[in-house]
Amino acid sequence: MKKARFLAEYNFTHIMSEDTNEKVKTVLVPGSEGKQYQVILRRFGSKITSECRLIIGANNHIDCKGNTFGGVCYHSMAAVMTSAFKFDYNPSITRKYKFAQKLKNLKSNGNVYVLSSHQSNKNHVYLVAKNIDLENEEEKTEEQLLKELGY
Ligand SMILES: [Zn+2]
Repeated sequence: MKKARFLAEYNFTHIMSEDTNEKVKTVLVPGSEGKQYQVILRRFGSKITSECRLIIGANNHIDCKGNTFGGVCYHSMAAVMTSAFKFDYNPSITRKYKFAQKLKNLKSNGNVYVLSSHQSNKNHVYLVAKNIDLENEEEKTEEQLLKELGY
């Protein structure tokens, strides 16, 4: 998570495409040993999924192992943080919902998103970011949030 934040905060990531609302869709994230990963973000309300691909050569790619077998890889976390930084939101990622709620309260008007892997969909993490559109949203319990998102 520290690595993801470092990559996003210090602009090592590169936004490749955005959707019609200028939200970040595809991000290029550097990995170890000069590897490059392409992360595709998809949004469904408070739910975000990430598809991470290791780029091989000019026109080829394979699934990122971390995002396929390990839940949510750090490239995906870096991509979603890049998206938050683009809108001057201050993002934090945590695996614990209780901690996400605490962070949400510390960051006034913060909102909690669920980030899960498109390739494995087994594990998820929580992204806390300030979102002015959802300023007055009621606090939800983890159970309510996950139920709403179809878990
Ligand atoms: Zn990855």
